Formats: sequence, structure tokens, C-alpha cells
Amino acid sequence: MSFEYSDKTLDLMKRLNAFMDEHIYPNEHRFLAEVAEGDRWQPTTVIEELKTKARTAGLWNLFLPGSERGAGLTNLEYAPLCEIMGRVIWAPEVFNCSAPDTGNMEVLERYGTEAQKKQWLEPLLNGEIRSAFAMTEPEVASSDATNIACSIRRDGDEYVINGRKWWTSGANDPRCKIFIVMGKSDPDNPSRHSQQSMILVPRDTEGVNILRHLPVFGYDDAPHGHAEIVFDQVRVPASNILLGEGRGFEIAQGRLGPGRIHHCMRLIGLAERALEKMCQRSLQRVAFGKPVAAQTVTLERIAESRILIDSARLLTLKAAYMMDTVGNKIAAKEIAMIKVAAPNMACQVIDWAMQVHGAGGMTDDFGLSYAYAQARTLRLADGPDEVHRNSIGKMELAKYAGKDAIRNYMSASSSVSRS
Ligand SMILES: Cc1cc2nc3c(=O)[nH]c(=O)nc-3n(C[C@H](O)[C@H](O)[C@H](O)COP(=O)(O)OP(=O)(O)OC[C@H]3O[C@@H](n4cnc5c(N)ncnc54)[C@H](O)[C@@H]3O)c2cc1C
Repeated sequence: MSFEYSDKTLDLMKRLNAFMDEHIYPNEHRFLAEVAEGDRWQPTTVIEELKTKARTAGLWNLFLPGSERGAGLTNLEYAPLCEIMGRVIWAPEVFNCSAPDTGNMEVLERYGTEAQKKQWLEPLLNGEIRSAFAMTEPEVASSDATNIACSIRRDGDEYVINGRKWWTSGANDPRCKIFIVMGKSDPDNPSRHSQQSMILVPRDTEGVNILRHLPVFGYDDAPHGHAEIVFDQVRVPASNILLGEGRGFEIAQGRLGPGRIHHCMRLIGLAERALEKMCQRSLQRVAFGKPVAAQTVTLERIAESRILIDSARLLTLKAAYMMDTVGNKIAAKEIAMIKVAAPNMACQVIDWAMQVHGAGGMTDDFGLSYAYAQARTLRLADGPDEVHRNSIGKMELAKYAGKDAIRNYMSASSSVSRS
């Protein structure tokens, strides 16, 4: 693996950094003020204005490797760009590179029919609509996706969907027009991984009831939000099924790779920004006769933050390189490793940054408490740490005992889950 960024990446990094300096950082307060004004669940003008500018500047749809519809970048080339966008929580949307749309667009690109692409992928790529991914359910432990209970039942030329979902991110946004819903189309199939399907459900379909938004540590994440939704006798055409009945797991595996690595890339940017703030504040603030930076404990934390961030970045670049060269499936271990490493790293670095800011770190004045809340959720979203660690551990053990032996050993042990 080469440690050099390509000329194309270096050029885009330069342009992206210039755009951040000119349009994103100066508008951080404006974004918060717009959300606070009037109806919090309406899209902000600032993002819509900046989307036009970003598109004109050629900084648009930078994700989506291996597709003519994207910018023609590999995962490795996209990584440092995604990191730059991640420095400000709302910035990725300006470049049409935000979650959960990037993962959903990849699903439509890889698994959608031409008609599905025309109807949903094109407006998503144009930034005209947004999307949501509805898998997690309140009634079952959803980190084990075989538990998912939502029913997707064929009835003539239609499918009928019944179930309750929660944590469907982005569903509260009025621009969100399409949900990718995971459910069981064949609950009696002896193969536990062939029971599930994914289906496209337009948000305005009769029977889709958005019950409430779920706050994260008290933040509502408006106008994006995370919704609890009931699907009550929701009927969609049979052609809305993705890839085919019983292939939900296959799609989930394909979707979660890109979705996860994008989160990790953004978190590295978020942590880098927190370290920047930690350094600046500790140089200015004087306690007990010297700057906080001169206290050895602060120096230790600054040094440790640099080590943690750079380690996570290298691991993320390696995962991106593996995805590009051997595919998402073989890169599964590296993706799982960064999914554990990056959120834990970001939580630690942001926590130290908040500590350096004293009580100010707990306010919204420095953006650190919100950054912490975001980073902390990613120890759960897209799978809890423990589940990824289990997978990594099993893959390590399989080198010595073989996959089947590990599976048998694990199922004989009552203390280990089925994941
Ligand atoms: C901010 C946010 C946004 C989200 N966005 C989305 C979204 O857009 N779409 C969507 O479908 N979901 C979304 N989620 C949901 C998220 O993916 C799930 O919360 C996650 O997969 C865990 O499922 P669960 O909450 O049901 O936890 P459970 O499955 O109930 O697990 C609870 C805990 O059990 C432990 N555990 C579970 N399995 C194991 C194991 N094998 N070994 C050891 N311990 C284990 C872990 O500590 C885990 O945290 C989001 C969550 C958050 C917080």
C-alpha cells in the first residue's frame, strides 16, 4: 500500500479545504441559528445555498467508487476528503456525501433495477431528496439482524409491510422521500440468513406512521433526526423489492461496509478538530501560574490524541485500500476493526478536549459536547463495539481452527452470542 495520496486526491483536498475555509467554518453559527429559529424540522437555507456552490465547484458526490455516477474516486482516494468534511458535523450534506444517503445510494447503485435507479437514485444524487434506512426495531435486539421481525408479505402484485422500527435516521426530514426497509419475507426459511428482504417504501405511502423523533443525549439532531415509525398494512408494488426476496442479508453486508467506513473517516476529522481546539485552548488558558498546555498531563493527552488519531487514520486507509483491491467481503475484518477503533478514539480525544475547556467544554459554545454525543452514538450505530470485536476475534481464531470449528465452539459456549 502506498502512503502517498494521488495527485487527483491532493487537488481535491486543496479545493475542499478552501471551500471549508470560505463557506463552512464561517457558517457554523448560522446553521445553528437557522435550526433554532421557527420549525426545527425544516431544511436550512444555509445548506441548500452551499449545496449549489459545492456542486458548481465540482465537490459533489465524491463517494461512490466504481460507478460512472460518482466522482470516479476509490475508497482510498475518498478517505481524506471525507475526513475533511467530517470536521463539521453538518458539512458532508453540502457535498451530497452524508449519512445515511451515501450508504443508501450505494445500495441503489449496486442492487437497484434501472427503474429504481431512475426513480430514486437520480434525485438522491442530485441532492433533491433524502433517504433513510429502517432496520432496527424496538422489540428485538437488532444488533443480531436475524431477530428482525418486521413482516414483508407478498400479496399478488404487491408486498404488504407490517412492523415497528426505531432509530431510522433522517426520516423526520421533509426531504426524506424513500425508506429502505429490512424485514422478513420468509420467516420459516431454515436458513436464518435467507429469511430477510429489503424493500423500497416511499415515505408518503399510506400506513407509514412516523410516531416521534428520538433524542441523542438530549440533542434532537434536527432537521435530520432519528424516528420511530410504525408500518401498518403498508402496500408497495412487488417491483419495489431490492435484488430479490430473501437477499436482505446480502445487501446488508454490501451496504454496511461503505456506510461504516464513511462514519470512521468523518470521525477522524471530528477528532482532529477537537485536538486542534484542545491545543489552542490549552495554550491560552492559564491555571496555577502557567498555561494549561504546560501541565504535563495535558501534554500527555495531546500526544496520546495524536497517536490515537494517526493510528485510526492508518487503519482506516488500510481498510479503504482493502475494499478497493480485494472487495468489501474480504475487507470485513479491517472494516470491523476501524468500526471499533475510530468511535472509541474520537470519544477519548473529544473527552480530553472537553476537559481542557473546563466547564466551557460542557456547553455548546465550543461544539465539543455535541461532537462527543455524535461520536458516542457510533459505538452503537451500524453495530455495537462488542459485535464487531466478536467478529474480529472469530476471524483471528479461524486462522488456527477453521471457520466451522469456531462456529461449533461458539455455539457450544453459552456466553457467546450467535453473531
Ligand atoms: C444515533 C443513532 C442512529 C442510528 N441510525 C440507524 C438507522 O438509520 N437505521 C437503523 O436501522 N438503525 C439505526 N441505529 C440503530 C443501531 O444500528 C442499533 O442501535 C444497533 O445496531 C444496536 O441494536 P440495539 O439497539 O437493538 O441493541 P441490542 O441488540 O439490544 O444490543 C444491546 C447491547 O447488547 C450488547 N451485545 C449485543 N450483541 C452482543 C454480542 N454479540 N456480544 C457482546 N455484547 C453484545 C451490546 O453491548 C449492545 O450495545 C441508530 C442508532 C443510533 C444511536
